[in-house]
This record gives sequence, structure tokens and C-alpha cells, in this order.
Amino acid sequence: MTLIEIEGLAKDYRLGDQVVHALRGVALRIEAGECVAIMGPSGSGKSTFMNLLGCLDTPTAGRYRFDGEDVSALTRDQLARIRNKKIGFVFQTFNLLPRTSAVENVELPLLYNGTAPRERRPKALARIHEVGLAGRETHHPSQLSGGQQQRVAIARALVNDPILILADEPTGNLDSRTSVEILAIFQALNRKGITIVLVTHEPDVAAYASRVVTFKDGRIVKDDTVTRPRVAEEVLRTLPVETET
Ligand code: ADP
Ligand code: MG
Repeated sequence: MTLIEIEGLAKDYRLGDQVVHALRGVALRIEAGECVAIMGPSGSGKSTFMNLLGCLDTPTAGRYRFDGEDVSALTRDQLARIRNKKIGFVFQTFNLLPRTSAVENVELPLLYNGTAPRERRPKALARIHEVGLAGRETHHPSQLSGGQQQRVAIARALVNDPILILADEPTGNLDSRTSVEILAIFQALNRKGITIVLVTHEPDVAAYASRVVTFKDGRIVKDDTVTRPRVAEEVLRTLPVETET
């Protein structure tokens, strides 16, 4: 099944009397269950593209069908509803609330979508445990390592059972072993059928995806299938174990 179908997608930003053409006619199809890495130099339009994929913004031109529905012309409220139900976001800087425990951070999306209060805690705890953070439920972000904070962010992205996870440089602030641990979580989710699209600068990270799409100057210039994606669990077995800092 096709999850993402994009044609002629363009995005202009207006800055005073200047127009920035961030995307200049992008076409892309992503099937449900794919794991796609987005690469390209800084300023090539990757984040703009992710914002459109994630229904955080609307295109200047073009068509976007997501999960069988034309979302290019929806209102902000309609987009927010789709986002909340179907899409999870992970960022380079984790974006956790600082004075809030891990489990409360994960509960936030449930608060916004009207999940009954007594259902929130068990759902959030299940996700915290799924990402390997049992015992850290009540820690605050400042009491967690970067890798652990990113695990909390992934648990938060998962709490509404999304069909798509969008991650913009999710390993950009992490050391190399911790990066592979985070990639192992993404690969496990992908095996369960969740579609993953992640932006990365590093070919070493893109090697874990099954497809690599490269942007340049607001266009897709390359779209490669990875014949044998790296398997994070296997790579971890070859890496020395270190204590996270
Ligand atoms: P990347 O993520 O690949 O670094 P971006 O999508 O962030 O690229 O940016 C693409 C282009 O659009 C750049 O020239 C950037 O300066 C511009 N741009 C991005 N966001 C905005 C914005 N909100 N307002 C104006 N210009 C923007
Ligand atoms: Mg970016």
C-alpha cells in the first residue's frame, strides 16, 4: 500500500520582498513499511520537506496524498487531527519539557487528544518500557543521558500508535554507539510495520535505511535502494559497551 504520494510539491518562503524557493517540484512515493533516509546539504530543503510530510505546514503548490487522503488543501485543524492520530516526530534536540518527568513527557500527546486520564499513565509506561527505559520513568530530562532523552522522545512519538515516524537528524547529537542504539529502536519499529523517514547528514546512518533519497537545491537528485541495509542489532554486538555519559 502506498502511504505517501507526492507530486509537483513546491514550497516558497517569503522574507520581506524576497522569495526563497525551498522546494521546487518534488515527486515521491513511499510505500507503507519502508525505512527511508533523506540526505542532502544544509539548505537543500530537507526540513521543509519533513514539515510538509508531517502535516505541519501546507505546500505552495503540488499534491500530497497521505494514507489515501489528499492532505494538500486541509485546514490547520484537520492537519492537526491527522498528525495527532497518525504521525510521530523525533528531533535532533529531543524537545522534551525540562521540568517534567519522562513518563509525563510521554503522556503529553495523550493529554492533547483527549485520552481519559486513567488510560494515560499505563499507555505512557508501556512505551517507556518498550524503548528500554524501565526504572527511569520519573527521571527528568536533565537526569538522563542524550541517548536516554532521545528514547523518551521516541516513546512520546509512539504513544498514539502512529503509522509514520518522522525523524529530523535524530542521532545528530549522539555519540556513535548511542546512535546505533537509537537506530536499533527505529529498525525494531520498522519491523513492526511502522514507516520511518529520517533525515541525516551521515552516510553511516543512512546505511541503516532501505532507501536513500537525496535533495539538492529543493529537488530530489537521487533515489537509491539500499541492497543490504545495516542491521543495528548486529552492529551493536561488534561495538564495545560503554557507559553512557
Ligand atoms: P535543510 O533542512 O536541508 O537544511 P531547509 O528546509 O531548512 O533545508 O531550508 C531550505 C531553504 O529554505 C533554505 O534556503 C532556508 O534558508 C529556507 N527556509 C527554511 N525555513 C524557512 C523559513 N521559515 N522562512 C524563510 N526561509 C526558510
Ligand atoms: Mg534541516
